[in-house]
Amino acid sequence: MLEVRNLRKNYGAVPALAGISFKVGTGELFGLLGPNGAGKTTLMSIVSGQLDASAGEVFLADKQFHRSDRGLRRLIGIVPQELAIYLELTGRENLHFFGELYGLGGRVLDESVSAILNSIALTDRADDRAATYSGGMKRRLNLGAALVHEPTLLLLDEPTTGVDPQSRNLVFEEIRRLNALGMTIIYTSHYMEEVQALCPRVGIIDHGKLITCAAVSNLLASLPSRVRLGVRALPEKARIRLDSIDGARLTMRSAESVELECNDVKRVLVQLVAILSEERVELTSLEMEEPNLERVFLHQTGRALRD
Ligand code: ATP
Repeated sequence: MLEVRNLRKNYGAVPALAGISFKVGTGELFGLLGPNGAGKTTLMSIVSGQLDASAGEVFLADKQFHRSDRGLRRLIGIVPQELAIYLELTGRENLHFFGELYGLGGRVLDESVSAILNSIALTDRADDRAATYSGGMKRRLNLGAALVHEPTLLLLDEPTTGVDPQSRNLVFEEIRRLNALGMTIIYTSHYMEEVQALCPRVGIIDHGKLITCAAVSNLLASLPSRVRLGVRALPEKARIRLDSIDGARLTMRSAESVELECNDVKRVLVQLVAILSEERVELTSLEMEEPNLERVFLHQTGRALRD
């Protein structure tokens, strides 16, 4: 559905995109994860035809895309990071306005607007001015506005910024529903939990470069799980036995804190519990940390995603 090839964008001397290439298949729900300033908005703006690249190409549905190509542009719906709705209009009027921009009208538009209001849970407030909506409701309307012309590719640029948990869940449900109907979706965020929960495949972007692009399950499987134990004291024999658990790597964080890194956490836990019990080691705490995209980012860049 989408291919970008060696995309570059400089703002004066600032290289916002430093040569990015990737593909997103038809019907995918693809995550684009990166810290603030990584270049996500710049990338979405170029892909949606709002901004010219300094170099590189964008292909949509196997055709090279230029900003002037209205036919291809119509395939895209973009939910921008900044709200792009009219606060003095009602929710319904906003959706009509965006539909009319794409040449829609009459009963078709009326029906489409009603269906969208329903799916973004704004039917009850449809005839109130958007200025009276909560932050989450405005965000939902911002999403609805991108859907009226029934795009094939939906680009979401940090759509949950400043959104309450209830609206966030509604946005997630709507994204999953649209994707299940066959819409290709690119979900941009700096919240790794969101991307991990929503997207089977992810591109991680940092300083204008794509540092990895793979199935989330593969990225997570490439890192070990961690088991952290707090103990009153760890006798030397117990330490040696823990250290010899097959497939686990032991680190003493302090005299009372032990960390084991392993891939098969269930098997290691069984052995761990047996050793602690046989050696009469008293536990003060037990924590498990599964791999997550935050750790993938740290592993790839040496920095935390949230700085
Ligand atoms: P955020 O989540 O904070 O919006 P982002 O990943 O979307 O971050 P961009 O907004 O694309 O990142 O910005 C990428 C880089 O380009 C940043 O260093 C930013 O300061 C710079 N930049 C973005 N827009 C402009 C502009 N109009 N003029 C100059 N520099 C810009």
